[in-house]
Amino acid sequence: MKVFNFYAGPAILPEEVFKKASEAVLRYTKTGLSILEISHRSSEFVEIMEEAQSLAKDLLNVPEGYEVLFLQGGASTQFLMTAMNLVGKGVPAGFIDTGSWSSKAIKEARLFGEIEVLASSKEANYSYIPKDFHIPENLKYVHLTSNNTIFGTQFHDFPRTSAPLVADMSSDIFSRPIDVSRFGLLYAGAQKNMGPAGTTVVIVRDEFVQDPVREVPTMMNYTTHIAKSSMFNTPPVFAVYVSLLTLQWVKNSGGVVEIDKKNKVKADLLYETIDNSSLFYGPVRKEDRSRMNVVFLIRDERLSNSFLQACEDAGCIGVKGHRSVGGYRASIYNAMSPEGVERLSSVIQEFDQTHG
Ligand SMILES: *Cc1c(COP(=O)(O)O)cnc(C)c1O
Repeated sequence: MKVFNFYAGPAILPEEVFKKASEAVLRYTKTGLSILEISHRSSEFVEIMEEAQSLAKDLLNVPEGYEVLFLQGGASTQFLMTAMNLVGKGVPAGFIDTGSWSSKAIKEARLFGEIEVLASSKEANYSYIPKDFHIPENLKYVHLTSNNTIFGTQFHDFPRTSAPLVADMSSDIFSRPIDVSRFGLLYAGAQKNMGPAGTTVVIVRDEFVQDPVREVPTMMNYTTHIAKSSMFNTPPVFAVYVSLLTLQWVKNSGGVVEIDKKNKVKADLLYETIDNSSLFYGPVRKEDRSRMNVVFLIRDERLSNSFLQACEDAGCIGVKGHRSVGGYRASIYNAMSPEGVERLSSVIQEFDQTHG
């Protein structure tokens, strides 16, 4: 039986990416070297890096004046790196607090300057995306988490701001078209929707980070990585290669416009199944539901574990919810096939018929 991976991250990748990546581990170059042992200065790797950067630009329609970087340290390092470069005394930034990841970004940014929390849905356990709040004019940027991996909410429209947006897109990058020109910088840990753990993609407008507000250590300074095209020090060669393979797969699947349509169909099916059941329900406000992480709860807690068992028996792995919400979470990133979502949907239906 085919097993489907619903874990939130590190997460599912396309089957063909696993195949190509494993072939490359055995032999990558004409001379017979493995991808794991080649120099990051070799023409083979320089080509991988350049293609990954240009493909990322191509897929998201990135305008002139932006760079694509592949860094290390995860999205968590971007929480501090953005603020270290961009906020300071008299240079405040605004944050929208939509969950644990936003809160972590806020905590780090406070170390460097004046941070205004513009809106928060904390009082409702982050079950919606705040809208129509006041945004002051004097901000360097407005930070948001585009998809809240833990709470299952997603910005379907980004707020209108005079300042550029800075976004953590770890769990929905390359899942849909976005207007990059509205962002000064966006970042994403690869391991949710783009590749394996080990690299973080940063798409940044050159001008936005050209003059850091303070003296910034070399590795934390965006200008270092822009000047050296992500090769100031040894980049995560394998993680970048696997990310490239995934981006090629996205392109061959019709790009983010087609992927977006497929993602919508998958998410709609799952939410519809949950809404039509008597046992399960979604805690998230409908208009803010995530198309990547479908969070749902069960009305009769006594059945909680037996539902998880039913999922596992049907080959649906990793459906247990995050401890801060409880219940269940089905992560249905780009690489999750419609077949996987249909399988889970049947498990929900059958369980509901038997126990509901
Ligand atoms: C997983 C996740 C992170 C953390 O990423 P790391 O790469 O582990 O630092 C940050 N933000 C969001 C939205 C995530 O889903």
